[in-house]
Amino acid sequence: MSQPTSHEPSPDLFPGLEISPRIHILVLPTPPDFHCPHCQAHTPFNLYYAAPEALEPQVRAAFDKATRALRADRCDHQDFHCRGCGRAVRVVYMACEIAMSSYLYHPRRVLIGPPRG
Ligand SMILES: [Zn+2]
Repeated sequence: MSQPTSHEPSPDLFPGLEISPRIHILVLPTPPDFHCPHCQAHTPFNLYYAAPEALEPQVRAAFDKATRALRADRCDHQDFHCRGCGRAVRVVYMACEIAMSSYLYHPRRVLIGPPRG
């Protein structure tokens, strides 16, 4: 099977992505929204209380392999499927606590799986 593609977070992938004036790094808007470069669908997603969607085992293994270094670097991730084309998506991010129990989310990497067969 084909490998996932790896993307730098950008405002095209995440409309509303912007530099936080508080911590001076790119942060996701609330709620974040994924814009699929393949089918142009928008998929809102959630980083804190949503349980990750179950990925196909092969896709999850490929995502895990591609994000091993980031996950070792205190990053978390959220998995979901594009609402339009059904490709698996993983957003790897770092949660930055800006006040007690108040977080901003700095995306580090986006992985997009192959078309669903
Ligand atoms: Zn899509």
